[in-house]
Amino acid sequence: MTADPNGCRWCGKAPDNHGWQQHPAVGLHQWEKPTMQQKTDRMTARRPARNQVRATRGER
Ligand SMILES: [Zn+2]
Repeated sequence: MTADPNGCRWCGKAPDNHGWQQHPAVGLHQWEKPTMQQKTDRMTARRPARNQVRATRGER
């Protein structure tokens, strides 16, 4: 399953079907907006590996 870029900052669930969720770190919680870093990480993880290789090469 692919992480939703807009998923909860704690559990990664999409806001539409989040409701109340139990999480070891924060306990019972409602959807909370993810940090910019989390969004960036998730969108990067969604990209095919080939693009990541190109991006890495481009930096050097
Ligand atoms: Zn959550």
